[in-house]
Amino acid sequence: MDINDYEKLLSKAEPVLSGSNKNQERLQIPEPDIIYEGKVTIIRNFMDMVDLINRDPKHISKFLMTEFGIGVNISGKRLIINRKISADQINTKIRQYMDSFVICYECNSPDTDIQKIGRTNVLVCKACGAQHPIRIASETAHEDEKIEEGKMYTVQISRIGASGEGRAFYRGYNIFVPGVKKGDVVKVHIKKIRNNTAIAEVVDRSA
Ligand SMILES: [Zn+2]
Repeated sequence: MDINDYEKLLSKAEPVLSGSNKNQERLQIPEPDIIYEGKVTIIRNFMDMVDLINRDPKHISKFLMTEFGIGVNISGKRLIINRKISADQINTKIRQYMDSFVICYECNSPDTDIQKIGRTNVLVCKACGAQHPIRIASETAHEDEKIEEGKMYTVQISRIGASGEGRAFYRGYNIFVPGVKKGDVVKVHIKKIRNNTAIAEVVDRSA
């Protein structure tokens, strides 16, 4: 494959990317409207914030309770947290919730469901059909969790895309790998990265 072929493959990935960006825009979560009463934090617009997230508000509040390690209660439209928490901390946790339980790990669409398959909770995407066991996203993407153009990584091909290319999901990137089969574990060389999509070439099939 020469570089033009990679460009072609990447341009095919482009509508998926711009589509997902639109979806992200639609899911603009309002800023938390916070008041503090003594040591208690009250998010006055909690229900408005979670309204756009297609999940049970109790599931979201339970996640916040676990993450903050303190009691939280929903009261009408408000969420009451038994400690002083900043708006930044709340925004970070809501984003982490979205990344873990809402946004498709492959195409970034928020149009997903959580289904129990066997004993595993699986994030099922209605947009691209991807199914991945739920994993709690880390708070921030560390530098060493990113991938870089020109570097090599060992990945497993989780599915085959519409153009026959292999797809690997790795460190939050959707990696296109031509000429492989589902289940292959291969060492790849990253040719190009655009947003969270990368094009790679196999360098070792016995990785
Ligand atoms: Zn998807």
